[in-house]
Amino acid sequence: VSALQTPADTLEGVLASIRALTLPDKAVIEGMEVLSASGRTFDNFSSRDGKLINKIAACDRADVDAAVHSARQAFEDGRWRALAPKVRKKILHRLADLMTGHAENLSLLESLDTGKPISDARNVDIPLAINSTRYYAEALDKVYGEVAPSPEDRLSYVVHEPLGVIGAIVPWNFPLHMAMWKVAPALAMGNSVVLKPAENSSMTALYTAQLALEAGVPAGVWNVIPGLGGEAGDALSRHMDVDMITFTGSGPIGRQLMRASADSNLKRVSLELGGKSPQIVFADSDDLDGAAANAAWGVFYNQGQVCTAASRLLVEETIKDAFVAKVIAVAKTIRVGDPFDPKTQFGAMISERQMNTALDYIEKGQAEGGKLLLGGERVRSESGGYYVAPSLLDIAQDNILAQEEVFGPVLSVLTFNDEQDAYRIANNTIYGLASGVWTSNIGKAMRAAKALKAGLVWVNGWDACDITSPFGGVKQSGFGRDRSLHALYKYADLKAVSISFKA
Ligand code: NAD
Repeated sequence: VSALQTPADTLEGVLASIRALTLPDKAVIEGMEVLSASGRTFDNFSSRDGKLINKIAACDRADVDAAVHSARQAFEDGRWRALAPKVRKKILHRLADLMTGHAENLSLLESLDTGKPISDARNVDIPLAINSTRYYAEALDKVYGEVAPSPEDRLSYVVHEPLGVIGAIVPWNFPLHMAMWKVAPALAMGNSVVLKPAENSSMTALYTAQLALEAGVPAGVWNVIPGLGGEAGDALSRHMDVDMITFTGSGPIGRQLMRASADSNLKRVSLELGGKSPQIVFADSDDLDGAAANAAWGVFYNQGQVCTAASRLLVEETIKDAFVAKVIAVAKTIRVGDPFDPKTQFGAMISERQMNTALDYIEKGQAEGGKLLLGGERVRSESGGYYVAPSLLDIAQDNILAQEEVFGPVLSVLTFNDEQDAYRIANNTIYGLASGVWTSNIGKAMRAAKALKAGLVWVNGWDACDITSPFGGVKQSGFGRDRSLHALYKYADLKAVSISFKA
């Protein structure tokens, strides 16, 4: 492990560390750093100050063909798939060790690319990406098949076989973390991967693919093709030799990926598409301070750019005013600032477009009768970066902010009168990703866990995020799960073998 560094604890120190970095800007195909075949690049902007960071290879169909070809060759010749499980396990653990050694560089790159606070990149994004890698490294030699009930003169058994070439398309909100939720289990199962990072945040994936080569993952097994969604992503989704697309991102692109699958080779599709997640606070909760902290951080973490953001607060009518005052008090303590300042808790949004989307929603919410209680505006504009203040609106159920995902730091407050009312409102969107409930009544907690139509239910705490439990949604939040052993088996197929040994 060569790059263990002491993280700088001042803004100036972080800036100096960033200046010393070599910024990844090329694709990784067949174990080599390459320009795009066309020689084209795209501009990678910093959301911290709006300035150009670097120009990155803009991969298109030709590069996707090359990457898929490389991944297919690697799969068919068995250079990875056919290695003994204990060998692949050791290599993936070595990758996790290298990521740990390079964690500070990865954190700096993640914060630079996304505008998220450096402290979040250091404490959350990169450790969780490493944790995924370790979890699936450890799981891979525990994949057993089954013996099926067989007649005396026959043995029938079932094995899990890797699918082949996995196309992973990931978003910019947790770039490396989301990538390793997909790449680690896909590799652990013996597949080859072609990863398309989001165009706003390619650098940590490119860096980590190099570490994978150093760890001993053979060339061609994990390729990374940076590029625009409509070019690299689209070509990957339509490719006839890709066996599965695993995706996290927006609903419209998720639909497009399913159409592309139907129009090409019927590749599998797994979709994680975001939500409008409710956090329900009952008056009987004996931890209203904890609930208020979670109501605020449940939506303001990562500037609200989280698919499980608790963007709807459903509070029991009788405690509304007192509770909302508590949430506002917490929100006011959030340190909004320069992402490179280690003390900053809340940084820039990913892009000017995403900032404007959030500001537009705040305006529309007010135009539809919503009352602004906090924030609602761009801040730190003198920096040239894209910052929106933590914002709170009191809304009615027919407000646009009760239905549509903002993907920004906007909390909508709604009220309810009784339990059934709470579940009805909570379930009244097209989404079903996360949900939460605060109560001291065990019966209510159990009823909520049954009644809420969501892939995740958290009782008395928001975002119990653990690699051991499956993550994903129902309804239009998508289907298929990341995390846990369920995600490992998503990248495999069942083969039933029957052997006759009649004399
Ligand atoms: P997006 O869905 O456009 O992008 C996600 C990924 O898909 C990126 O890698 C992108 O390059 C790729 N992509 C885009 N067009 C593609 C295409 N035609 N074919 C294949 N791949 C394509 O998301 P966005 O535009 O970056 O963000 C827009 C909205 O998406 C956000 O406001 C938010 O609502 C949602 N979003 C959700 C998540 C999540 O975690 N579920 C993450 C990011 C964004």
